[in-house]
Amino acid sequence: MQKTSFRQALLLGAGLAIFSPASFAADAPVGYKDTPMIPGQPWHVHDPDRPRPRIVTPGETFSQNAPAPSDAQVLFDGKDLSQWRSDKGQAAEWKVEHGYLEVVAKKGNIVTKDEFGDFQLHFEFATPEKVQGHSQGRGNSGVFIQGVYEVQVLDSYDNPTYADGQAGAIYGQYPPLVNPIKKPGTWQSYDIIFEAPQFDQAGKLTKKAAVTALLNGVVVQHKKEYMGPTQHKETTSYDKVKFTRGPIALQDHGNPMRFRNIWIRPLGEYDKP
Ligand code: MG
Repeated sequence: MQKTSFRQALLLGAGLAIFSPASFAADAPVGYKDTPMIPGQPWHVHDPDRPRPRIVTPGETFSQNAPAPSDAQVLFDGKDLSQWRSDKGQAAEWKVEHGYLEVVAKKGNIVTKDEFGDFQLHFEFATPEKVQGHSQGRGNSGVFIQGVYEVQVLDSYDNPTYADGQAGAIYGQYPPLVNPIKKPGTWQSYDIIFEAPQFDQAGKLTKKAAVTALLNGVVVQHKKEYMGPTQHKETTSYDKVKFTRGPIALQDHGNPMRFRNIWIRPLGEYDKP
């Protein structure tokens, strides 16, 4: 009961602490020192002193336009939002044009109608060509796995922000291994492998959620375990998320981000054809 109500609350928009767009003044510091320490790490959540990953120039196209394998579920083929709903449980209202979908500010996150456990996800995105804002206010979106575990999508091209909030970060927990982001306005690819958390019958965590992510063909997370749902300026735990399946959400952070070619493959188990 608790698990369902918490997740539903998040996806219905009550979890604004996680989802809500934040505004940043032009002179805002790039990070926070008034946040708690991340357990097991010498850094505050969103610590401005945490080293920013080195920049890697990715290959031109890697998995761009990768056709979906036969067992994949296509979540967006360039035509419509039939696989998605709004985070209020209504029709998704982002713009669809020219084969991509685009965030319409204040329309909220969009959420897949289906739920997933372990999976391989492919999608492509472009940050706005016209650069506006800075730090977290510039080209921000995110993929919220099971509605609560974010892999950050951000315009991190010559855009200083706190390390645990730049593109490829497990937001508020781990920076990406490197920064392979491309210029604003160009298409980029994400390939993400997610392992769902597991719980025993008493609800005790037996396996943390983990993610491997390639951004433009460059590994930015390697089987990294989530400490719990990703949070803004807070630490986290699995106390309120006792579920093993959930939808994929894309974040409306107020920037006109574009997405295309989204498909997902649920993962099976070895020796279980
Ligand atoms: Mg985000």
